[in-house]
Amino acid sequence: MENDIVPDLLATIQSEFDNQVVLNPKLKKLLAQLSLKKATYLDANEFAIEIGKVLTNVFEQNVSVEVLPNGKMYFNIAERLLNPTLKNNYDLISSYVVDLQTELNHSVGLKIKGQSAEINQDRIVGLINKISDSDDFNDVKWLLKEPIINFSQSVVDDAIKENVEFQSKAGFSPKIKRSLDNSKACKWCRNLEGTYEYPDVPSDVYRRHERCQCTVEYIPNGKKRQDVWSKDWIDPDKKEKVEARKQMNLTERKW
Ligand SMILES: [Zn+2]
Repeated sequence: MENDIVPDLLATIQSEFDNQVVLNPKLKKLLAQLSLKKATYLDANEFAIEIGKVLTNVFEQNVSVEVLPNGKMYFNIAERLLNPTLKNNYDLISSYVVDLQTELNHSVGLKIKGQSAEINQDRIVGLINKISDSDDFNDVKWLLKEPIINFSQSVVDDAIKENVEFQSKAGFSPKIKRSLDNSKACKWCRNLEGTYEYPDVPSDVYRRHERCQCTVEYIPNGKKRQDVWSKDWIDPDKKEKVEARKQMNLTERKW
């Protein structure tokens, strides 16, 4: 196609992103924590916010009505810019969480590797649809700010959910702690504040509204529940139970 701006624009965005990530002192510190095996979920949350902010900055510096044809973020442009960049954020954050979760598991004697959640493609598609819906990019450019950071944080939240459910199926009782980001937190967030033990977890505990910087943490527990292999098994889906056991056996052999 003549005048396809995407290949060059994407290449610029990706290389500037990589440069800014490498030079970012906060990310450097958080990665050091991880390699020292000292990272926590609060670090993961900070890492996600920062990775989100870097991408937001790079978009802001490179995407504008001036570079877009007719000043519009067409669907086929949005798709090709957002899919790879958000996937990259997902990959970076996911890998941070898997390493940290593996470490947390080991710290309480669980020989289970950290799990990652699947990428939330629906959210990406939603963003692409929304941003290409307007004829004037200026009306929708805010979508490349806060929602990108929010998406990045959700990678951590989704991973916590995945790990908590996986471990619960394997017979352990991990807990989830949600804390408010500040004293001005909204009523919805206040309601969700607290420590929960699976399966008594409100489903909204992993959700966050715009600009919500509440933190969600996973608290490991190496003790097996009493009821684990009895008829009180909480998961009605037998196949999943077998899968969870199989995976545990596999990872146990590895360590
Ligand atoms: Zn909040």
